[in-house]
Amino acid sequence: MPIRNNQEADMRRLIEAGVTGTQIGARGRISRGTAARAWAHIEQLSVPEKFTLNTVVLDGGHMVWTGERDQGLAPVLTHRGRKLSVRKIAYGIEHGHPPVGSTKSACEYAWCVAPEHQADAALDSDNARSFAAQLDAAAERLGAN
Ligand SMILES: [Zn+2]
Repeated sequence: MPIRNNQEADMRRLIEAGVTGTQIGARGRISRGTAARAWAHIEQLSVPEKFTLNTVVLDGGHMVWTGERDQGLAPVLTHRGRKLSVRKIAYGIEHGHPPVGSTKSACEYAWCVAPEHQADAALDSDNARSFAAQLDAAAERLGAN
């Protein structure tokens, strides 16, 4: 039934754009059955698939999160009823393991969630160490040591 399939596709686009089920219901265009099927489809997606659905890639490889946020406005993704940190997911996608401690953007944009632009506490202290090493090297070159 092509009409039903079109409705499901519309519904997926609305969900992917962050429109809530209540807002969709208020439009009155989509039946409960169609809504349930579209939600079931979204629920079956893997965490990386949900991550991809809710991000927009910008110039320079930066990524904007267009999905859900928690009360502190941090990007979160709901998977099997749990809210997961989008930054930790992004870090895991890039590094293949969970981050150590907190995760934040390591590029010039604090809002960026690109996997390759995330740093955890361990990476941060590596960067701090290499910065200290650079300062030492510079001081040595200047004859200060
Ligand atoms: Zn970035």
